[in-house]
Amino acid sequence: MKRRWGYLAALWAVVLVLVGALSQPARSQATAATLQTAGLKLEQVGSGVYALVAEKVDFPPADPKLAIANSGFIVGSDGVMVVDTFQSPELAELTLATVKTVTDKPVRYVLNTHYHSDHTGGNPAFRKLGIPILGRGLARDYVAGRRGPNARSGSNEPPDVLINSRTDLWLGDRAVRIEPVDGHAAGTDLVAYVPDAKVLFAADMVFNMRVPFAGEGDADLRQWQGSLYRLAVTFPDAKVVPGHGEVTDVSGIQAQQAFFDDLERLARRWKAQNLSKEQAIAQSSTIIEAYRTYKFQGLYTTALGAAYDQFTRSATIPLIP
Ligand SMILES: [Zn+2]
Repeated sequence: MKRRWGYLAALWAVVLVLVGALSQPARSQATAATLQTAGLKLEQVGSGVYALVAEKVDFPPADPKLAIANSGFIVGSDGVMVVDTFQSPELAELTLATVKTVTDKPVRYVLNTHYHSDHTGGNPAFRKLGIPILGRGLARDYVAGRRGPNARSGSNEPPDVLINSRTDLWLGDRAVRIEPVDGHAAGTDLVAYVPDAKVLFAADMVFNMRVPFAGEGDADLRQWQGSLYRLAVTFPDAKVVPGHGEVTDVSGIQAQQAFFDDLERLARRWKAQNLSKEQAIAQSSTIIEAYRTYKFQGLYTTALGAAYDQFTRSATIPLIP
């Protein structure tokens, strides 16, 4: 048992070190990032609602200048909310510059949809401007590197406003509804919905056409499945901006549900065969056919490990609804 934990911990460490190593050089770069060098596409997803979609990146990123995750912003009558800050202050500056290309209104809030460094690494650019950073749960400790699964990747500016229950924030005459969801990042997950534009920033609840990151100590696949179900029934008509991948709709949420259902089927087979974790991962190391074209294939083993740990264990919960 100890050896299995050691194995996964080592994998997780490799992931963190890779992210850290690849994002460090970007911090020291003198030349300003552009949408092109960052591999980003600006997409208007509703009236005054924009997504910055990281369309070029794979994992691990081939070029440290490429944005790993998506970001976005919502323009209200008296101000702007930015959703996520990328992995570096340089990329966050790019977000601020991009906001200026579409509006003169000031950025009033920035939301950390969860604590992971590819979504929060740009926080210092907002702190510098005195813009409140919104987060949830233990995000302050995790982002600051004081404790938690992310502690080893170093300190960063943490959120200074915690949103732990459903909250409406107003940008003048426009509401943004911020809601806790669970399952991806150790109780720090939030989504943001713009009712008048029917746009849902689903953050890392949805990895569109990408293998989702299910980090040990972070991901709770049962909770993740529950949150996806809730999002799909609550926002059936929404445009969905995922944390990674192209803008989608409810079908992107359903595809994420299908991915976890497929892992659950695998786990049920492993359990029937009484496989060890190493045996299970070895047996299933070739990705399921339906996901062969997905990016982030390097995260598949971690997803299998989470499925083994969590789905084979919960014998009292019906496996597939
Ligand atoms: Zn994440």
